[in-house]
Amino acid sequence: MSGVAATDPGFAVQGWCPGALRPMLSGDGLVVRVRPRLGRFTADQAAGIARAAAAHGSGVMDVTSRANLQIRGVSADAHPALIADLDALGLVDPTEALEARRNIVVSPFADDAAMAVACRVEEVLPFLPTLPGKFGFAIDCGSNRVLAEVSADIRVERDATGGLLVRADGMTAGWRTEAGTIADDIRRIARAFVDAGGGRDGASRMADLTGRCSGGTGAILAALGPAVAVPAPVADVPMPGLYPQGALIGFAFGQTDAAMLGTLAMLGPVRPTPWRMVLVEGLTHMPGLPGLIIDPDDPLRRVVACTGAPGCPQGLAPTRALARALAAAVPAGKTLHVSGCAKGCAHSGVADVTLVAARDGFQAIRGGTARDAASTAPVAADALTADPALIKDLF
Ligand code: SF4
Repeated sequence: MSGVAATDPGFAVQGWCPGALRPMLSGDGLVVRVRPRLGRFTADQAAGIARAAAAHGSGVMDVTSRANLQIRGVSADAHPALIADLDALGLVDPTEALEARRNIVVSPFADDAAMAVACRVEEVLPFLPTLPGKFGFAIDCGSNRVLAEVSADIRVERDATGGLLVRADGMTAGWRTEAGTIADDIRRIARAFVDAGGGRDGASRMADLTGRCSGGTGAILAALGPAVAVPAPVADVPMPGLYPQGALIGFAFGQTDAAMLGTLAMLGPVRPTPWRMVLVEGLTHMPGLPGLIIDPDDPLRRVVACTGAPGCPQGLAPTRALARALAAAVPAGKTLHVSGCAKGCAHSGVADVTLVAARDGFQAIRGGTARDAASTAPVAADALTADPALIKDLF
């Protein structure tokens, strides 16, 4: 197959993430994103979200790459009643601005000490300078880092001795900190980001600055002093299975529904994860419920697909039915990403093979992202569905 032109770049970049107070309009109605506090929903909160999603939305729900839950299919008329229900559960922030700022991913394996750190970070948010819309935080305080690949601008981690450190994304080392000073340290780094040009001239993320060796990094270092605390090693992305904190359970494409969330809520508190799975606290066995991914070797774990058409107005073709049809043909250990357009929402990184919808079929990209140039001429979805083995040639 010969190389062809880059895939259609005609997608809109919003520059902000939806919330509950500021939902995003999609092809199936409003998408209302619910952000857990300290990375977990109590069992009562999870059950309440399930009831609210069924009453005010389509009942379809997503686990997002920011470890939030999204309620889909909400009409503008139903939104106020949904917000009232979520507010009664303690899940609505006082303002849109504060909600947008509460962009914190907490490791689902967090212990009480890590939760206390997350609490300090949440408390300091109102006192930070104005930051870009997607600016976020990761609380990743285990002996190995599980959130290293998760988007964040300021990270709280541990070093090899168990000491806490705070690190600006894009830097290999951070600054030592402790629970009592973490709030001040976060405030200083956020201020240094803004003072070094963060939020202006295309520098919307910390790594935009720390990647500019002679510019932003220098300014940040000057403000904060040498960064010498080396973070703990990076762990493999966790698999479905049992952990000391509970059972880690996946959903195909990170999508579930209100009925399933309600059922899981009866088993324990629910921690959404950035891997499109949830951890149900306290479980000592994997729940044998239909529709859950509990086997690490499940072929559906080899495919990633965004909402696609018609749920997403930018989608040029449906994606998930195709991904489901091709999953068993994807070699073990490989990843197929099916994207409804070149934006690549479901997987911003490199995949072994990416299929991107174009006007005249799906273009394949080997070893790249949805935004890279295609490796093949377009292939019709029907042809791939009729003969899934065609996909094997691309790996
Ligand atoms: S990648 Fe998928 S979800 Fe994202 S804008 Fe394109 S079609 Fe929509």
